[in-house]
Amino acid sequence: MDLRSVAPAPPDAILGLTEAFKKDPRPEKINLGVGVFMDDAGRTPVLATVKQAEEDLQREETTKSYLPIAGLPAYGERVAELVFGPGHEVVRSGRVRMAQSPGGTGALRIGAEFLRKFLPSSKAWLSAPTWPNHKGVFAAAGFGAADYPYYDPSSRGLAFGKMAEMLDGAPENDVVVLHVCCHNPTGVDLSADQWREVAAIAARRRWIPFFDFAYQGFGAGLEADRAGLLPFLETGLPVLVAASFSKNFGLYNERTGALALVASDPGEAAAWLTHVQALVRVLYSNPPAHGAAIVARILADPSERAAWEGEVDAMRGRIVSVRDALVQGLRARGVPVDFSFIRRQRGMFSFSGLTDAQVAFLREKKAIYMVGGGRINVAGITPRNLDYLCDSVAEVLRAVP
Ligand code: PMP
Repeated sequence: MDLRSVAPAPPDAILGLTEAFKKDPRPEKINLGVGVFMDDAGRTPVLATVKQAEEDLQREETTKSYLPIAGLPAYGERVAELVFGPGHEVVRSGRVRMAQSPGGTGALRIGAEFLRKFLPSSKAWLSAPTWPNHKGVFAAAGFGAADYPYYDPSSRGLAFGKMAEMLDGAPENDVVVLHVCCHNPTGVDLSADQWREVAAIAARRRWIPFFDFAYQGFGAGLEADRAGLLPFLETGLPVLVAASFSKNFGLYNERTGALALVASDPGEAAAWLTHVQALVRVLYSNPPAHGAAIVARILADPSERAAWEGEVDAMRGRIVSVRDALVQGLRARGVPVDFSFIRRQRGMFSFSGLTDAQVAFLREKKAIYMVGGGRINVAGITPRNLDYLCDSVAEVLRAVP
């Protein structure tokens, strides 16, 4: 091997799509590929509460000196409360420790590196399908991957029986990655009863749940969305949570996330954190401050926090109403498919059921961009493009059955 003969790496499927979209000169183009929230005007705005916090920080900031390796302590405290709920036992007892991270991806990676260090022969179980970067992150940390069944195309819902059966066979100390809410890419989540059943399986089989919590507030609400992970906290098992504030604070490019380590007692959690700190030290030394300072500030101020919760509710409200409008728009065009399942899915993503050939037709003939497999970001639908989108989907269902 010689550096001069290095071939280009394959493009990232989702980010590559955005590049192609940007270059597309057709004015009617629609981007349903990228995973960012968009408002009615198709913009990804800075939240008003975030702007306010930035102005305050700009005025009051006195130093750019390094943060501790595990990040701003006040951020860790507020985030633990947001993720687990105010006054939750894991927080009161001190058996959770937090490490601020560069986005949810950073939290997944440092969590995966930590697990890998002590469990070198464990596998990481990922839902089929999942966010493609899960595969990359766990492979980069040295994990062999396995899939557990998740989505059932025939019912367009959860393959719960198969999922539970597979997870009941996962060995002790393997790592099972679970999406707390707003599953990416399908939009299909577990019910409260199903979560309790999976927690009981974990307790019996003693595998390690690693939760990806990237969409808190986008499913049913900030509080309701954490329900899935709560039963796992009672099992006494190690639990990891990778939280991201890219979506619910709109802090995409500020790389703001956190890894929560839940142990069975405070001493164990503290010991784990020292290893995560050692990993962070050699990866990026310490985290960036800006996004975390914003989040800590908003969460600490009751009126700003209430205003932010209102902004999250509004984003979720828009997603729900867009899902409705899409289902109605397609029904009004008499399409031969019942798309009402789009209403049942939660979060920004929806498995539309469109085939790869239909996805290609929409991109080439209609300038409508979606990810292969038919995942759409419903937040990319606006009052301005809804009719064109519905007309185009109705057409592709006829032209490419
Ligand atoms: N997990 C899932 C399921 C996601 O969809 C995303 C963002 N697309 C992330 C994690 C990572 O988010 P971040 O940008 O905060 O790294």
